[in-house]
Amino acid sequence: MRDETDILISGGGVAGLAAACAFGAAGYRVTCVEPQPPVTEAEAEGSDLRTTAFLHPSIPVLEAAGLWARLAPHAAALQIMRIVDAGGVEARPRVVKDFDAADLSDKPFGWNLPNWLLRREMLARMAELPNVRFLAGVATASVLTRASEVLVTLSDGSRHAAKLLIGADGRGSLVRQALGIEVKTLRYGQKALAFAVSHPVPHDNISTEIHRSGGPFTFVPLPDAGGQHRSAVVWMDHAAEIDRRLALPATEFAAEMQARSCDLLGELTQISRLTAWPIIAQIAARMAGERTALMAEAAHVMPPIGAQGLNMSLADLTALLELATPANLGDAAMLAAYHRKRHWDVEARVRGIDLLNRASQIGAQPLRDLRAATLNAMYSIAPLRRGLMRAGIGVR
Ligand SMILES: Cc1cc2nc3c(=O)[nH]c(=O)nc-3n(C[C@H](O)[C@H](O)[C@H](O)COP(=O)(O)OP(=O)(O)OC[C@H]3O[C@@H](n4cnc5c(N)ncnc54)[C@H](O)[C@@H]3O)c2cc1C
Repeated sequence: MRDETDILISGGGVAGLAAACAFGAAGYRVTCVEPQPPVTEAEAEGSDLRTTAFLHPSIPVLEAAGLWARLAPHAAALQIMRIVDAGGVEARPRVVKDFDAADLSDKPFGWNLPNWLLRREMLARMAELPNVRFLAGVATASVLTRASEVLVTLSDGSRHAAKLLIGADGRGSLVRQALGIEVKTLRYGQKALAFAVSHPVPHDNISTEIHRSGGPFTFVPLPDAGGQHRSAVVWMDHAAEIDRRLALPATEFAAEMQARSCDLLGELTQISRLTAWPIIAQIAARMAGERTALMAEAAHVMPPIGAQGLNMSLADLTALLELATPANLGDAAMLAAYHRKRHWDVEARVRGIDLLNRASQIGAQPLRDLRAATLNAMYSIAPLRRGLMRAGIGVR
């Protein structure tokens, strides 16, 4: 027997869960399929300790999904993005530039939240929606598309017919492969370490990106807790260096972390375990195929610089919600419009972040000096500075 639904979402990562809440709140029948039952506590084995900075263009879709009211009480505002060049001979800040959201409007750039908490709140929201089903512990196994519907077989053998299949199943997307959509992948030989720290100096809602070589070391503000100031850290470097640090005794790791942070927030105390993430950039040749839309990392992956990844995923979701009606859901015209609306922006952002990442990786001293001079020059031209901030958060 086959099950019938409006939308089948393959993948219950943060992007797939957000899509399930948003389409559920819009009244569609939704089935979301996820092989790994989501981990919803920070300290539990396998929890996702990364944080996501939601830039303000992402907030309306979270509101429409009925999620923002749940998330806002846990969020830390991002008012200033501070770029620090510490690429001189000594590992000390030599150029410090503050990109202040007040230059653009009275809103902060965005709000930062831990990924494990996003999963917890998204699952709770889905449970309120009787038209949304979440199937944890099963995977999409095969996909057969026709002009009128898509047939999906899951790993438990069950068969599901839907008007629209959303591939939100990550960078190795089975849905994308089943549709024969090619990807272009750029490899940097880098990894990112993600963890949380407490520190004596308040972060003042400033996200700080420190550039030296190998990749940025970034502090992202978290709300204070237990009387302590706290930040999330994303530390990118050559993969071999990250692997070496993962194997260090705690005291030696702490000393390297302290030196790389240039002491900007005082003495750091690591308050979570370390998780390591391989860094690539990847872009799918098309955002859609027959009866199928790709979103999030199934369609685009980029290094975690400038808080772009999940915000682009929510831009995908916003476009899908705007284009879909009960009458045209998943038809060829709707999906062609989705590809046109998103692909150009996705390509431009992947290219932009690729450039920034390569600049941050630079090892040779003369090129690091050139990077610092370029930051100084770009910052000093006010219209260019504001233009870069607008492009970064995705507003005009
Ligand atoms: C260190 C780091 C920091 C980051 N910081 C930010 C930030 O500040 N702001 C931001 O916007 N972005 C950030 N990003 C990017 C952001 O985390 C990702 O864009 C986002 O988590 C990806 O979400 P996703 O749901 O597409 O992918 P995933 O989280 O990989 O989810 C895909 C899901 O699909 C499931 N799946 C796989 N195969 C199948 C199958 N066959 N059937 C069904 N399901 C399947 C997987 O189990 C998984 O749960 C960061 C990334 C990294 C690496």
